[in-house]
Amino acid sequence: MKNFALTSALVLALAACGESQKAEEATAPYAMNTEALKGHITTLASDEFGGRAPGSPGEELTVQYLETAFRDAGLKPANGDSYTQAVPLVSIETQGAPEMHIKGTSGELKLQYRADHVVWTRREQNDSEVHESDMVFVGYGINAPERGWNDYEGLDVKGKTVVIMVNDPGFATQDPELFAGNTMTYYGRWDYKFDEAARQGAAAAIIIHDTKPAAYGWMTVDSSWTGPQFGLVREDKGTGFSEAEAWITNESAHKLFELAGLDLDALTVAAAKPGFKAVPMNLEFSSYFRSDVNHLNSRNVAGYVEGTEAPDELFIYMAHWDHIGTDPTQEGDGIYNGALDNATGTGGLIELARAYASGPAPKRSILFLAVTAEEQGLLGSAYYAEHPLFELGKTVGGINMDGLNFYGPTKDVTVIGLGNSELDDYLEQSAKGQDRVLTADQEPEKGYFYRSDHFELSKKGVPMLYPNSGYEHREKGRSYVDALMAEYLDKHYHSPSDEYRDDWDLTGAIEDLELYYGTGRLLVDSRKWPNWREGTEFKNTRDTQRAEVGK
Ligand SMILES: [Zn+2]
Repeated sequence: MKNFALTSALVLALAACGESQKAEEATAPYAMNTEALKGHITTLASDEFGGRAPGSPGEELTVQYLETAFRDAGLKPANGDSYTQAVPLVSIETQGAPEMHIKGTSGELKLQYRADHVVWTRREQNDSEVHESDMVFVGYGINAPERGWNDYEGLDVKGKTVVIMVNDPGFATQDPELFAGNTMTYYGRWDYKFDEAARQGAAAAIIIHDTKPAAYGWMTVDSSWTGPQFGLVREDKGTGFSEAEAWITNESAHKLFELAGLDLDALTVAAAKPGFKAVPMNLEFSSYFRSDVNHLNSRNVAGYVEGTEAPDELFIYMAHWDHIGTDPTQEGDGIYNGALDNATGTGGLIELARAYASGPAPKRSILFLAVTAEEQGLLGSAYYAEHPLFELGKTVGGINMDGLNFYGPTKDVTVIGLGNSELDDYLEQSAKGQDRVLTADQEPEKGYFYRSDHFELSKKGVPMLYPNSGYEHREKGRSYVDALMAEYLDKHYHSPSDEYRDDWDLTGAIEDLELYYGTGRLLVDSRKWPNWREGTEFKNTRDTQRAEVGK
């Protein structure tokens, strides 16, 4: 099974060749292999690369390594004559310990930084101030036209402060008819909620934390939303965002609603029902804080194989090259090597590039995109999605790799977001050739589909696949993989100990790469346009985008 994709690709190539092309037949396409993949991983995850933080010397080494690999593979530079795309980043860090003041008719409430709330701005400014802004409880803060749900219906929140619940009504009720039931939708994500509040013109947006629907505790909120917050440099310097964005603890929320004379528990139930109407809280919100603003430049690396029939139609393979960098305050060397996350995916990208560049010429083009600043919030991919090197309306789809298999071949392939798009069918067809089956995300309530780079393209309409390693080891079964994954998440995920280990078995990773190769071939050798499935968040965007192509 191991060389399924390449063998069948070779067969196609041979069939397409005439007698006169015998010389070319002799050159077999590059066979992706564990030794080469291990080489990429051990280099990228070496201490010398310092954990590959954007803007660090490790970025320079990583970008050079990728450029050289893409050039040597025979890829064309995707950005004019350059293999890189500059990604200007900004970091904004709240200074000191700003308080939140909430004034009601019956009293006042002061919330303390980190203990009760975290607040920040995405605007490039040193001073942020929200002064006596009217507070409105907008339930889940969702405007989903395709579901006929709008928490902002008939409401003008310009200059106001919106208070929002985490996750979505489907999760809250576990009703499969409501949103996607237990499966988190984009509308359940905090990033959606802040963006929607900004679109509505809110001066401040506050999300109420709750461990279960958020899928993480307050500790995670506290550590993730304090310190430098990275974003893309925007033409409007972030003025399109709200002046202040914040999380508050569930306990603080209860005090807040008490002050307003409202019953949070009752409103929580009401907010999950269709037809919910936002509730003015009769409270005034004030907060003033200073921020440090710094700029840094990073890069995406991009090369492509040009299609013979439809060079402007594109399939994408992507992986983030960056990781967390070095933290000298940590035990040991403090280097976050990021071997699994994501030297494996980056190495896989190089192997796929080599295979495609030496294989039969595709009808459509294929982009190999190594993006930066995933760990800072999917920023390299967001930048690409906003400044694409190929038209998004003509981008057929793609596959994102974030962490490859390190434990050997599996009978299954986990697909995060299985059922979202018709790309599943192509992956399934390719998987059949390896005698494998697709399985759904084990924890759909955690919203992993919205937490890696493919999502930035999905949000802009492009159907994307996010397959992960399977869980059913071909020989050792499921418990073997479960134990290894649990150990990784517990001990090594986002820790300096995410290092290459000699007991890793990369044969499963190669099998997965062959699967991804085979899936891509089905699309680049055809002119088909798989779409999002009915009812998904991004189908409207895609339909509009496709209708505009060529106009
Ligand atoms: Zn990652």
